[in-house]
Amino acid sequence: MSKTLRLILGDQLNSTHSWFESPDENVIYLMAEMRQETDYVMHHIQKMMAFFAAMRCFADQLKNEGKQVRYYKLDDPENPQKLDKIIDQLIQKEAIEKFEYQLPDEYRLDQQLKDICKSISIDSEPFDTEHFLTERSFLAQFFEGKKTFLMESFYREIRKKFEILMDGKKPEGGKWNYDHDNRSALIDKRLLRKNLEFKHDLSGIFQMIQDQNIKTFGNVNPEDFQWPISRAESFDMLDHFCEKLLVHFGDYQDALTTWDPYLFHSRLSFALNTKMISPLEVVQKVESHWHRKRDEISISQVEGFIRQIIGWREYMRGIYWAKMPEFSKMNFFGHERSLPSWFWTGKTKMKCLSMSINQSLDLAYAHHIQRLMVIGNFALLAGIDPDEVDTWYLGIYIDAIDWVEITNTRGMSQFADGGIVGTKPYVSSANYIKKQGNYCSHCAYSPNQKTGDKACPFNSLYWHFYDRNRELLEKNPRIGMAYKTLDRMKNKAQILKQADEYLGRIEEL
Ligand SMILES: Cc1cc2nc3c(=O)[nH]c(=O)nc-3n(C[C@H](O)[C@H](O)[C@H](O)COP(=O)(O)OP(=O)(O)OC[C@H]3O[C@@H](n4cnc5c(N)ncnc54)[C@H](O)[C@@H]3O)c2cc1C
Ligand code: SF4
Repeated sequence: MSKTLRLILGDQLNSTHSWFESPDENVIYLMAEMRQETDYVMHHIQKMMAFFAAMRCFADQLKNEGKQVRYYKLDDPENPQKLDKIIDQLIQKEAIEKFEYQLPDEYRLDQQLKDICKSISIDSEPFDTEHFLTERSFLAQFFEGKKTFLMESFYREIRKKFEILMDGKKPEGGKWNYDHDNRSALIDKRLLRKNLEFKHDLSGIFQMIQDQNIKTFGNVNPEDFQWPISRAESFDMLDHFCEKLLVHFGDYQDALTTWDPYLFHSRLSFALNTKMISPLEVVQKVESHWHRKRDEISISQVEGFIRQIIGWREYMRGIYWAKMPEFSKMNFFGHERSLPSWFWTGKTKMKCLSMSINQSLDLAYAHHIQRLMVIGNFALLAGIDPDEVDTWYLGIYIDAIDWVEITNTRGMSQFADGGIVGTKPYVSSANYIKKQGNYCSHCAYSPNQKTGDKACPFNSLYWHFYDRNRELLEKNPRIGMAYKTLDRMKNKAQILKQADEYLGRIEEL
C-alpha cells in the first residue's frame, strides 16, 4: 500500500477534521516545532509556549487514537527546523508516495507550501481546514465589483446562510445590530466574575526555549500557565463564558478599567485561532444557552458576541485573502516614526498605555478596545510606521496570527489600507478613554487639558493627526466636521506646537 504524509501546522489543531474520521495505517501525520516559526518575528514567551503545548497535546491525542505521528520537538537533533527540509527528509525516510496538507491561513506559509509541492517529486493535494464558515474567496466574490467591503452586509449574509440568531427570515429581536447598547463604562466592581484559569506546568517547554536561545519577550510563570491548550479546556472556557460572562458581555465590551484585565471577554481567541474549537461550535453553544436563559440574558449581549465571531473574524479572513500580499505593505499616511521603546517595557506615564501594555506583557492579552482605542490609537496619532506596529502586535498577543493580526492592526487600527476595513480612522482624544472607564483618574496627565505640562498627549496629537493629514482625509464625508472644528479653534497653533513638543520627546511621555 502506498504511504501518505499529512502535514498538520501549529494552528490546525482541528480534531473534528474529516482526515481523522477513519483509521488508516498508511497515513503518517507530521507535526513540527521549527525555528522558521519561532524566529520570523519575536514572539511573546506565552504565545510560543501555548502553541507548543497545544501541539504536543494534539499529537498525543492522535497517538492515543492509534494514528501514526512524527512529531519533531524544537530540540530534536534530527529536526532540520525548516518545513521544506522536514518534508523532504520524511518523504525519503518513510518512502512516502503522496503529500497532503490543509490550506494554511497565512500567506507566507501558503506560498511556501506551493513551492514545496512544486519541488517534490510525488503527488500532493491541499484540503480545506474545515474550520471557518466561509471559504477563502467567499468575501471577494460577495463584494465583487464593489469599492467598499461593508462588514455589516457580510455579517447579515452569514447570519441568514447559517440561520444564526434568526427568527425565520427576520433577525431575532427584530434588529440586526445592537451596537449602540454595547458601549458602557463599568462602574460597579461587584459585577466582575473570577476568571477561569488553567494550571499547567510548562517548565519543560520553557526550559527548552531558553536552552535553544530563542529570542522572546514578555513575562510568564512557567509552572502556572493559564491558557487552554486542549479542545476539552477550550470547551470549559466556552462554558465558563456562557455561564458567567455572557450576561454582561455586550454592555461592557468597550469598557476600560484598572480593576480587571479580562472583564467579560471570552478569552477564546487562542482556542479559536488554533482551531481547537470552531466558530460554529462557539456561536451555536452561545445561542442555545441564550435560548434557555432568555429571561436573564438580553439579546444585545448575545448579538454583540456573535457579531465578533461570524462578523468580524470571518470578515477579516476574507479581507486577508482578497487583498494579500499588497495589504501587508500598505502605508496610506506614509508614517515612518519608530515605536517608542516603552512599548516593550510598559514604562510610560500615560496610565491607559501603561495599563494596556503591561497587561499585554504579563498576560499576552489585551481586549479589543485596549488594542484599538488605547495602543493602536496612540500609534496612529503619533505616526508610527505600520511595519513596526505590526511587528509588535504580531509578537505580543497569544492569538496573533498574520491573517487576523494585520487586517486588524494595519487595517482597522492604523487605517494604513486607506479605508478597506474601516470607513474612517479609529482615533480619539482623551475624551473617549475617559468616558470608557477609570484610567484617566489614575494618570499623571489631565484628560481635560490640551496644552501645558499636564496636558494629556492624546488631546494635542489628535488634532496634529488631522492637521497633518488634511489632504488625505478632508474629503471623507465622515470626517469633514473635524476640520470645521479644527479651523474654528482659537488656540490651534498652540495645540499643534504642544503635539510637536510631545513627539519630539516621545520616549519620555
Ligand atoms: C489592533 C488590533 C489587533 C488585533 N489582533 C488580533 C490578533 O492578532 N488575533 C486575533 O484573534 N484577534 C485580534 N484582534 C481582535 C480582538 O481584539 C481579539 O480577537 C480579542 O481581543 C481576543 O480576545 P477574546 O477572545 O477575549 O475576545 P472577545 O471579546 O470575547 O470576542 C470573541 C471572539 O471574537 C473574535 N473577534 C473579536 N473581534 C475580532 C476582530 N476584530 N477580528 C477578528 N476576530 C475578532 C475573536 O475570535 C474573539 O475570541 C485585534 C484587534 C485589534 C484592534
Ligand atoms: S489622561 Fe490621557 S494619557 Fe492619561 S489615561 Fe487618560 S487618555 Fe490616557
